Amino acid sequence: MLTDTHCHLADSAYDPDRPEVLARAWAAGVARIVVIGESRQAADRALALAAAEPRLAATAGVHPHDASGWSDEARDWLRAALRHPAVVAAGEMGLDYHYDHSPRPAQRVAFEAQLALAREAGRPAVIHARSADDDVAAILRAHPDVPAILHSFSGGPGLLRAGLDLRHYVSFSGMVTFKNWRLDQAILDTPLDRILVETDGPYLAPVPHRGKRNEPAFVRQVAERIAAVRGLPVEELIAATAANAARVFRWPNL
Ligand SMILES: [Zn+2]
Repeated sequence: MLTDTHCHLADSAYDPDRPEVLARAWAAGVARIVVIGESRQAADRALALAAAEPRLAATAGVHPHDASGWSDEARDWLRAALRHPAVVAAGEMGLDYHYDHSPRPAQRVAFEAQLALAREAGRPAVIHARSADDDVAAILRAHPDVPAILHSFSGGPGLLRAGLDLRHYVSFSGMVTFKNWRLDQAILDTPLDRILVETDGPYLAPVPHRGKRNEPAFVRQVAERIAAVRGLPVEELIAATAANAARVFRWPNL
């Protein structure tokens, strides 16, 4: 059964028809969805969704775009949120040097502080890395005992190697179906027991839905593409990624 390990299901993009989005996901064979809470507001909404539906779990964290808002108050909030039983991970957190919406030093401070909270809470960390491979790798190496998920992986071989050496997980999104995707080698280099699949909805809809709103049902296209690259039956890839998700999120396997 498919697990979409990263969807912004609390986003207002789904407000008009969230029940229908979920119905399509279940019908497509999706068994579980990790709802990303990338801000305090998003995490509150993610938690409300997870409280109402056992096939959903939430995360809580501060996106690197918003890192300049990191504060003692944010730390207190996140420390408490990570204790909630429906919160299966901290994040998404990380570094984004492509958009630079927050100053880089502030991004690094918020990232490291959240890794420390994840460790304290015994939760894995969902990592956003864009145009910041070296700094993300260095920070992950400095926090080796926090299990991490390199989400929507599109980084270089150095970041992949750093993550795999630390026994982290690598999550692939609909980007693997794009015409300009050039990282099949990363799919091949990631051991089967470390691969996850995600939509990152509402963004990054896979082919043939590219350009439209993404949704959890489309995680199947991601799984199909990865299975094809690895020369595996898709059901085998789906079973492996579901078991990996259950392990890293400590979400009992189905
Ligand atoms: Zn995301």
